[in-house]
Amino acid sequence: MESEIRRLIGIAGPMPIADYMRLCLTHPQYGYYLTQDSIGAAGDFITAPEISQMFGELIGLWIAAVWQEMGAPENVRVVELGPGRGTMMIDALRAAKVAKDFYAAIVLHLVEISPKLRQLQQVRFESHDVPIFWHASLAEVPAGPLIVVANEFIDALPIHQAIKQADGWHERLIDIGPDGNLAFCTAADALPHFDATLPRDLRQSPEGSIYEWRADTVAFEIARCVRSDGAALIIDYGHARAGLGETLQAVAGHTFADPLLAPGEADLTAHVDFAALALSADIIGARSHGPVSQRDFLTRLGIDKRAAALKASAPERTAEIDSALYRLTGSGPEQMGELFKVLAIADPKFGPLPGFATKRR
Ligand code: SAH
Repeated sequence: MESEIRRLIGIAGPMPIADYMRLCLTHPQYGYYLTQDSIGAAGDFITAPEISQMFGELIGLWIAAVWQEMGAPENVRVVELGPGRGTMMIDALRAAKVAKDFYAAIVLHLVEISPKLRQLQQVRFESHDVPIFWHASLAEVPAGPLIVVANEFIDALPIHQAIKQADGWHERLIDIGPDGNLAFCTAADALPHFDATLPRDLRQSPEGSIYEWRADTVAFEIARCVRSDGAALIIDYGHARAGLGETLQAVAGHTFADPLLAPGEADLTAHVDFAALALSADIIGARSHGPVSQRDFLTRLGIDKRAAALKASAPERTAEIDSALYRLTGSGPEQMGELFKVLAIADPKFGPLPGFATKRR
């Protein structure tokens, strides 16, 4: 991957961070998601569904409740973006099975770029009796009532970065440094009228500030699919309000790595700007709900009760269940409860969605 990146820089000059990230993660031959076993205890990072079955089960109940809100259509496309090992959907289907009419209505569509993970998903879903289709992108999913879920998918989509200098914002790029290693550099020309595209309170940012953004394409695509008879649930780590600062990070073997070292061998992600996602969805004519913290979302869906029920049926697992509950809902940078946010994007005709209702005082 590194020699391919050097070759491209040699031909075209310094490369935007977004191009670098896209190549590192999804290059058909050398990309991280196509070559590495990334997810789970033995991989590079662990995700909420891999921590506890409670996560996927509650997502399953959310999907069933939204299907009811949609008027219980006879056929519903349940779409997952980036299913990874498939754990969340397997737990969701098990929980949804109690709602027989809903279960019978499901046609599953999995959007997965990695042939390796697709294969693993095929094996893991073999024993399931719902129709399943795989796709390379959301655009391939046929039209009709649909519910989309995505956990830790958006954080892997490419970001751009700009740095504020005396004459305006300049895009940050990746070049070959004087020592021969890949290094960050700054485009010579300022991005034209960039300040005008920023949220108002970031327009007077001091020199040296860094601003990150993602292309609106995916948010627009999701919103376009769900704005009539659909809903999407997006769960990821990130911020509820736009802010400054760089969050690009590389993770390999459960520890942080240098994003420019060993490209293609580490997972590259960056915080999700939920305010930007919500704005894109609203522009397209869908309605955004939230973002709310993962803790509030899971609490409102009843994770405490679910944990209590699991402990009652398997007392020997009490410590494990309590620790998973804390990991999913706890505060602070080590836990997921506040770091992770949940946003729904839906047809504006739907009322409040489960998990997003404001708390009673
Ligand atoms: N949702 C899973 C996995 C998260 S990892 C979990 O919570 O455990 C990100 C997933 O998105 C992987 O399955 C990866 O292969 C997939 N992915 C990443 N970029 C993608 C893209 N551009 N298109 C489709 N799938 C992608």
